[in-house]
Amino acid sequence: MKELKVDKTKCFGCGACASIAPDHFTIGDDGLSEAISQENLDDPNVQNAVDSCPVGAITIEEKKN
Ligand code: SF4
Repeated sequence: MKELKVDKTKCFGCGACASIAPDHFTIGDDGLSEAISQENLDDPNVQNAVDSCPVGAITIEEKKN
């Protein structure tokens, strides 16, 4: 199983991921992005968001059970 994550130590809240893949990211009260869904991670918008993050804060990791 895969897990979508945002590294909040890298994110600076530019909002790119949330506009590219609004089903998967939102900007939280802290002004930083958070992953809001672990569904449908094969959605190309998710990979576009990963590729578009200027600081490489978004990862899709293989999760160990
Ligand atoms: S694109 Fe990257 S830096 Fe911008 S809000 Fe999303 S995770 Fe944060």
